[in-house]
Amino acid sequence: MSTVVRRMPWPEGTARALGTPLQPSVVYGAESPDALDAIYEGREAGFTYAREAHPNAEVLARKIDALEGLTGGLVVGSGMAAVTCALMGLLKTGDHVVGADRLYGRSLRMMADDLPRFGIATTLADVTDADAVRAAIRPETRMILVETVSNPGLRVADLDAIAEIAKGQGALLVVDNTFTTPRSIRPAEHGADIVLHSVTKLLAGHADVTLGYIAATDPELTARMRVFATTLGLTPSPFDCWLAERGLYSFELRYDRAEATAALLAERLDGLPGVRRVLYPGRPDHPDHARASDLLQGRFGNMVTFEIDGGRPAANRLVRAAEQIAFAPTLGDVATTISHPATSSHRALTPERREALGLGEGVFRVSVGIEPAEMLCDEFEAAVRAAARE
Ligand SMILES: *Cc1c(COP(=O)(O)O)cnc(C)c1O
Repeated sequence: MSTVVRRMPWPEGTARALGTPLQPSVVYGAESPDALDAIYEGREAGFTYAREAHPNAEVLARKIDALEGLTGGLVVGSGMAAVTCALMGLLKTGDHVVGADRLYGRSLRMMADDLPRFGIATTLADVTDADAVRAAIRPETRMILVETVSNPGLRVADLDAIAEIAKGQGALLVVDNTFTTPRSIRPAEHGADIVLHSVTKLLAGHADVTLGYIAATDPELTARMRVFATTLGLTPSPFDCWLAERGLYSFELRYDRAEATAALLAERLDGLPGVRRVLYPGRPDHPDHARASDLLQGRFGNMVTFEIDGGRPAANRLVRAAEQIAFAPTLGDVATTISHPATSSHRALTPERREALGLGEGVFRVSVGIEPAEMLCDEFEAAVRAAARE
């Protein structure tokens, strides 16, 4: 008797394949109870169960480790899973956390709604102002969470001063490096204790994967987050890890190209009819240009924000005219995308609050991709001119 139910051995010779194999297996057989003990105790390399670890996550994690200059980081199912590992995996009832007031929307929601349910107090502060961060610190502050460059205003955190504040307080500094990537800054070199990413964005780079990464400089903290992620089931899919690893081969090229084009696009947008302002940290008129130059060492990234006159009607005209550019609230794809914070990331705010934050109806955020720069600038110029024509 034979049955299709039994596994077949993998064909000989495939071990020399150049491409990274995709291993979707949930479980791994061991040779004996002794061998299983050795794997669980870390004396032998090996895998047991995919929620704990699997080879495709391992390969991806080691590559992002290398980019960030860290070791032993873990890949989890989304950027928010990484945020969860830091905030909920390391803090406890009675602790206090300070977060940037312009954090990614879901991170803000976790600070506002979820942590307080577990008795973890939160305060938001303007992280471009070290004094504001210092004023937010309490005796029980255990963590500070910042993004080096904020969305969508592209304000730059006073990272070095905040690292000093965290150290003085004995609090962990957590940096979400999604926007800046290790190509612009390695936060661990500026005193960050924990670095995290939405791998979904620039690292994977093709808008077809949802993943996160997190690592601490202290291996014991990383180990605690790994246990937490395994218990909560924040597991990444092997296929997503495989796709992200494939995307990562071209990350540096993509980032450099998109960044160069972003600088050109910012130049081109400035002075077009109806353009009220252009925000790009590489421009001398950016409010944090000096700090960006110092912190990012000239690597100002691929994100450009600009504002046009004419309110919602002009915003609608711009998006319709830019028909080759996807209007979608994401970033870091190979192709350029534009988003409109007033109707996406910041839609929960009142119009007055949005105006106060400088996020009125005319504000667009551009995630510059790797298209030919001249072509892209021409498309934007045509769309901006169309928006200015009533
Ligand atoms: C997108 C994003 C996240 C969340 O990542 P997901 O992969 O969508 O869960 C967190 N932080 C920043 C800065 C982001 O842009």
